[in-house]
Amino acid sequence: MIPRSPCQQQPQTAPWQELLADAITNPDELLALLNLPRSLLEPARIAAVQFKLRVPSGFVAKMSPGERDDPLLLQVLPLAEELLPADGYSTDPLAEIDAMVVPGLLHKYHGRILLTVTGACAIHCRYCFRRHYPYAEASPVRENLPRTLRYLHQHSEINEVILSGGDPLNLSDQRLSDLVKQLESVPHITRLRIHSRLPVVLPERIDDELLKWISATRLKVVLVIHANHPNEIDAALTQAMHKLHSVGVTLLNQSVLLRKVNDDAKVLTELSQRLFDAEVLPYYLHQLDSVQGAAHFAISDKTATRLIDEVRTRLPGYLVPRLVRESPHQAAKTPLL
Ligand SMILES: *Cc1c(COP(=O)(O)O)cnc(C)c1O
Ligand code: SF4
Repeated sequence: MIPRSPCQQQPQTAPWQELLADAITNPDELLALLNLPRSLLEPARIAAVQFKLRVPSGFVAKMSPGERDDPLLLQVLPLAEELLPADGYSTDPLAEIDAMVVPGLLHKYHGRILLTVTGACAIHCRYCFRRHYPYAEASPVRENLPRTLRYLHQHSEINEVILSGGDPLNLSDQRLSDLVKQLESVPHITRLRIHSRLPVVLPERIDDELLKWISATRLKVVLVIHANHPNEIDAALTQAMHKLHSVGVTLLNQSVLLRKVNDDAKVLTELSQRLFDAEVLPYYLHQLDSVQGAAHFAISDKTATRLIDEVRTRLPGYLVPRLVRESPHQAAKTPLL
């Protein structure tokens, strides 16, 4: 081995950034890792053209080899079904473009705004409503930050900023802490909410650098993670959540109700229990947004309400997520009762 002098070393990358860069994007590799039939390859390749396969290997390690209906695999494996046209499914089911007041800034609900700070995600969830989102025009962090801050200053009713994406924790801690400092300069902002699936798919993301700026901000921090199935919650995630809890972060989870993944009262019950063991409270259980390519995941409202009614008979109220649907042009997410 040739010894390297310090000046030849790569710029510093955190271990999580390397894991992120090593995510699996080749369907061939995923099928081989899991010992799955080659017949799945061709459809996966075709469906991946529209929305790429992407999954960190730590998440693959939570799947059962040889199990083509593994509930975690179903969330990431591109399938031929995605290419079937479905009535009522569109590329912008939430009409989010209408709520975009500054590029990347969605002001849809009273008192809180949502910033799409990056288009990138650590994992590509096949049901995602952002699979067709025009991210290129929607990154406020760099060129649009002055406009975003001006908007915030002008709207004193806004007290919460939600970082979303993409996945905001994909950004480096340097960029996040710079952004948070700018947001802190707006006196009426009191809460920072982060919507991220990264802690679930790559718990290594919760490292000392992240904890440092989170501990330092004057804003109350809420982290909403995204897990759909109890198998997603392992010891590493639980440990990461304990660290965040110990620095005062409020921890919540949102799930999407997905056919063959979690459309089962027992599975949803266990998910809530595992989350609670990790200091996380269930927040929302979303009915699927009608995005093109995701129709095969849909559950009827009737089945959804029956499921949540059953969960309610098994768990204390604080462990029952709110079953909601997001509709365009509504003042809040709509509860389904
Ligand atoms: C879901 C959502 C929010 C936050 O809604 P809460 O009910 O506060 O969780 C804010 N803005 C947008 C655009 C959303 O989709
Ligand atoms: S935005 Fe969330 S749900 Fe959509 S692909 Fe990224 S991690 Fe998955």
